[in-house]
Amino acid sequence: MDFYPVVIEKLIEEFAKLPGIGYKTAQRLTIHVLNLPDEEVKEFAEALVKARGTIKYCSTCGNFTDKDPCPICSNPNRDKSTICVVEQPKDIMTMEKVKEFNGVYHVLHGNISPMAGRGPDDIKLKELIRRMSGEVKEVIVATNPNIEGEATAMYISKILKPLGAKVTRIAHGIPVGGDLEYADEVTLSKALEGRTEL
Ligand SMILES: [Zn+2]
Repeated sequence: MDFYPVVIEKLIEEFAKLPGIGYKTAQRLTIHVLNLPDEEVKEFAEALVKARGTIKYCSTCGNFTDKDPCPICSNPNRDKSTICVVEQPKDIMTMEKVKEFNGVYHVLHGNISPMAGRGPDDIKLKELIRRMSGEVKEVIVATNPNIEGEATAMYISKILKPLGAKVTRIAHGIPVGGDLEYADEVTLSKALEGRTEL
């Protein structure tokens, strides 16, 4: 497209690569950036580069962190006998907002989807199994309530039960086919409360 100068077209393209951003929104964001003071644009660009450069995954739970282990794993007040399993680091942020869960987490970085050809080896399941010491009493599976999330929960239950852990699944209120991210705090709190054994 030769409608815009190349540098502008490039910026629109970069914005359009972001999740949930279509071409029109990318155009709007680009125009917004072009109207910002120099200093603000510099701060924005630096924040992107700095975040990408300092943030890594916690070697224990797989959450985003700038310190390893992350603040949740290294907090002596968190209950290490309860592990809540989620698909993505963003789900930890959602769970933490509820403020009712005082255990620790495990991020799978994905889900099992036979349709998409993603199996157990494509997610951080071995890492979860490695954490199953006698100390762990309960594993709460909080994968998304859709086909992939359910398939993942069933698989985790099958693998962990022989290891002697109680495996539960968050229950009520999360709409089927929904995403954990969009559950409000009350719904998520109820779901946690009403979890059932798998
Ligand atoms: Zn951690």
